[in-house]
Amino acid sequence: MATVIRVPVLADNYVWLFAFAEGRCAAIDPAVADPVLEAAAAAQLAITHILNTHWHPDHVGGNMGLKAATGCTIIGPAREAAKIPGIDRTVDHGDTVTLGAHEGHVLFVGAHTAGHIAFHFPTANALFCGDTLFAMGCGRLFEGTADDMFRALAQLKALPAETRVYCAHEYTLSNARFAVTVEPDNAALQARFAAVQAARARDEPTVPFTLADELATNPFVRARDAAELAERRRAKDVF
Ligand code: ZN
Ligand code: FE
Repeated sequence: MATVIRVPVLADNYVWLFAFAEGRCAAIDPAVADPVLEAAAAAQLAITHILNTHWHPDHVGGNMGLKAATGCTIIGPAREAAKIPGIDRTVDHGDTVTLGAHEGHVLFVGAHTAGHIAFHFPTANALFCGDTLFAMGCGRLFEGTADDMFRALAQLKALPAETRVYCAHEYTLSNARFAVTVEPDNAALQARFAAVQAARARDEPTVPFTLADELATNPFVRARDAAELAERRRAKDVF
């Protein structure tokens, strides 16, 4: 099992340092460079790779700074390659990213952006999903449709339930407030809502979480079809 270190940056972003081998790590969706370099140094880790899930500036803003400081290799979505600063290797659905002894599987989950990908590392029990799946929420549909998101979430749902989900934002509390309006009688959701309110009141992070948590409480993951997901997404957009 590898260690994953959380680096909170900007208003609510999480950059993840996946320590895949002794003294080495990959930075996932580095919004900025300096705090990520500091966190890696504090953990005595060299950043050898960047994994980008999509092109949004709050996911790639640190690419060039980290590359200049470390010479790391930048791996990102083939379908958004032109918008990923410093990209060295493009990957798409079905590709493999090998980090030390860990093999990551690339999943195409375009919806939030058209070329969005996720990285699943089974041997680390870790899913890095960017802005596709959040705790009790999902990404906004900037470049894709509800059908796209339904398909994306269906793929993520199919991964082992114990998989830990490392998403890129701390959106949990606002997602929970919406989720309880969709399923007011869901006891697991009410319990989770209470738990995340308490955690956030103590200024504690709520990420990572497990896919099992989402299967039980996430109204987007639980949507029965794309139409239901679309309705919920529209409602959340104006919530
Ligand atoms: Zn985004
Ligand atoms: Fe984002």
